[in-house]
Amino acid sequence: MDIRSTIAGSLPKPVWLAEPEKLWPQWLLDGAQLADAKRDATRIALFEQDRANLTYVTDGEQSRRHFVHGFLEHIDGVDFAKMARRGIRADRYKADVPTITGPVRRKGSVHLDEATFARSHTKRRLKVTLPGPMTIVDTVQDEHYGDRRSLALAFAELIREEIASLEAVGVYTVQLDEPALNAYLDEAAQWGMEAIDACVRDAGCRTAVHVCYGYGIAANIEWKQSLGQTWDHYQHLLPLLSKTRIDEISIELAGSRVPPHVLGAIAGKDAAVGVIDVATDYVETPEDVVATLNIARGYLPDDRIIASTNCGMAPMRRDVAYAKLQALGAGVALANS
Ligand code: ZN
Repeated sequence: MDIRSTIAGSLPKPVWLAEPEKLWPQWLLDGAQLADAKRDATRIALFEQDRANLTYVTDGEQSRRHFVHGFLEHIDGVDFAKMARRGIRADRYKADVPTITGPVRRKGSVHLDEATFARSHTKRRLKVTLPGPMTIVDTVQDEHYGDRRSLALAFAELIREEIASLEAVGVYTVQLDEPALNAYLDEAAQWGMEAIDACVRDAGCRTAVHVCYGYGIAANIEWKQSLGQTWDHYQHLLPLLSKTRIDEISIELAGSRVPPHVLGAIAGKDAAVGVIDVATDYVETPEDVVATLNIARGYLPDDRIIASTNCGMAPMRRDVAYAKLQALGAGVALANS
């Protein structure tokens, strides 16, 4: 099998939909106009991924303000009127997060409407991303559950229900976004994998986990500088993830200090390998993409490799992100030729 392709999940939103280049942008419309504009933005996101000939496409997360809070807005027990400022991702940066004030419960399906819309607007296999349980726990203030594992397992149950809703409308892959795993390796070993397996224990669709050192935002770039020459968290994390029920593990590679040999620690899973750097506006050439893929090929067979972006592109310049999308597609075509 040839090398397949996808994006981590998000794409920048158009300037007529939301504030550009922000991680928590404000919507610029409301009511029916906002709903309609989200669908138009989704059409463009799907069109551009189709043009790039990607194997698995997403809705570009055009209907979500933020990848975690977009999920939490649909959950009972999460109070957005009670925001708290806290350090997240092991205090790497501060964020205003909602408070857990009671038992968490889905008010209904969270992303079903937008997944159904995306499903009916592309012939390609659709991937939908959901925040992973540890990352959710790390992006809220808990006043109800009392410990992070209990809260993670409560959210895992909601994610499990959401996966069932999504697969019922033809979603091919559900990906859990778990950047928090790299920030809390001890907890990852203690209960992080248990929580991931609880999410996917009866999933009928393909499942993936995206782990990364974060978006290309300033706080993350600074943090990455402090990590030294080698980012070896994956040396610990990938063997753990390889033992879960997850089908696919997604990590960055392009322009990072991730030692490529860690790819060898992905056992029995597909690997979505980041060949597009989201922390720079430099647009990779197809040859750059091939060069990064050739590194991955040193550790994995082609039929286990999915070429991807390093992380979501939501906070990027839109013209740059879309140019990178085409570079990804062209690079994979060249690698498979
Ligand atoms: Zn990421």
